[in-house]
Formats: sequence, C-alpha cells, structure tokens
Amino acid sequence: MKIPQNVEIIEVGPRDGFQNIKTPIPTDVKHEIIAAVIAAGVKNLEVTSFVHPKAIPQMADAAEVARAAVARREADSLRLFALVPNLTGARKAYDCGLREVTCVISASERHNLANINRTREQSLQDLAGITAELPGLKIRLAAATSFGCPFAGPVAEKDVFSLVEAAVAAGACSVALCDTIGVANPLQVYRLSQRFLAAFPAVPVALHLHDTRGMGLANTLAGLEAGITTFETAIGGLGGCPFAPGAAGNTATEDLLNMLRAMGVATGVDLDRYLAAVAIVKEKIQPTLTGHMASACSYPGL
Ligand code: ZN
Repeated sequence: MKIPQNVEIIEVGPRDGFQNIKTPIPTDVKHEIIAAVIAAGVKNLEVTSFVHPKAIPQMADAAEVARAAVARREADSLRLFALVPNLTGARKAYDCGLREVTCVISASERHNLANINRTREQSLQDLAGITAELPGLKIRLAAATSFGCPFAGPVAEKDVFSLVEAAVAAGACSVALCDTIGVANPLQVYRLSQRFLAAFPAVPVALHLHDTRGMGLANTLAGLEAGITTFETAIGGLGGCPFAPGAAGNTATEDLLNMLRAMGVATGVDLDRYLAAVAIVKEKIQPTLTGHMASACSYPGL
C-alpha cells in the first residue's frame, strides 16, 4: 500500500459544518471551537463564509469570526481562508485581513445554475474579477460536484478538468476536488486523483469528501493511495450543502485523524486534544454527531 508519511488536514467545520445548522450558534461558541481545534494542532482552517446573511443566517457573524481568527494567524502559524460567493464577499474577507478565499464553482453546469444561478462561464468571469481587483488575495477553487451531481447524475472527468484549467488560467492557485453530495466510490476517487496529479502537477490539490453514504474514509484512502496528501474534513462530521438536496455531513476530522494515527501517518494534530474540541461541539451544538470517534471507546495503546 502506498501511503504518505505526512498528511495536511484542512478543517472546514466552522464553514461547511456550521452553515448547515439551522439554530444560530453564538459567536463566542464558534470562537471557542475554533480555538480548541487550533489548540489541537490544526493549522489550516476555513473559518467562515461571506455569503449574504439572508441566504445563510448562520454566517451573519462572518466578519467577527474571521477577524478573531486572523488576530492569531501569526502566533499560531495558521493558514486561514473563507468561502466567498462573489466579489462583494471577497472584498469583505480582504477587509477582515484574510488573504485567501475559496470560490465554489461546480463541475456540473446544472448544479452551478441551481446553486448560484450562474453558468460556469459566468462564475469563471467572477473569479477573474476577484483576482483583477484584489491581486493580494489568493483563490482556491472548490470544484463542486466533481464526483456526481444531484441533478445531472454522473459528472465527466473532462468537465472537472476543463473547469480546473479555466480557473487556474483565471488566477486560482489551488484546487479542492469536492464530492459535494457524497456519492463517489474509491475506484473513482483513485482514478480522478491520479489523473489530476498527472494533468496538473504544479497545482496543489485537496480532496473534500462528504460521508453521505458512509464512503468518506474509504474514498480518502483511495485518494491517499493515488498520491493526494491534503484532505478537507469537518469536526464531528458536521456539514452538508444547503443547495445540494440530500447532501449529508463531511468526513469527520477526528475519524480521519484516528485512521492516520493508526497507520503511522503524521498530521501535526493531536487526536486526544482534538476530541476535546469535538466534545464542545457535542455539548453546545449537536448532541448526536455522525463522526465515529465522538462516541468510540479508547483502549490502551489502540
Ligand atoms: Zn462540503
């Protein structure tokens, strides 16, 4: 089995996880969870989303959450970013001190239209508009529905690659291949990852794999074998997509940490300290979590 020595974890719980929770989470609870995750050793965080509060009221405190995280960026050597749906969101993120943002464009044209009412082409123009106005802001492309679309079904590899190619040409610096609705299978993940690495050797890539059908870790393992070393996961397995019917939670960060620790792969994140952050989520946000480690027993040395 070909497994890397190190894996980079990107924690997306404060964005992908929280955005899907209807009951408002107090801002200080968000701060507390982010602080606990950082204390466990997480260095890469998607902290919030600068969407219009009417679209996702949970993200109305985006500026406050972002500013608090930015205030500790230097001291904790953090890489921070936020999701932005458009130039207005990008300006707000920049004003809060963020220097990296995620732009979501779907590989599936139909999902892009349903999600943000823009064609892929229009979204790519929006992305180019952000780079033109804010050259100091790095852009990550989240290639949504790279493994399947809730409306169009299977998504062709050429649709994923043409999107990545165009986004990189428009200024995107890195890519996340997203299984937005959690329908990928390990062989598909292996093949797409391998071909991506061969086609775009200079473009940093992450996998973002939802666990809707219980395939999150199996798909992660397939990505690892293909040579991917960066994964986006969410605390407790929180998450979903407000604009993708049936999408359930992300792969839980603590489950991935447990698997990697057991296999001797370094992440720089301490599982036990991370579980303390999961306990806060359980206590203050959601008593029942989909991640396994939140309720698993621990045994000596295992
Ligand atoms: Zn997601």
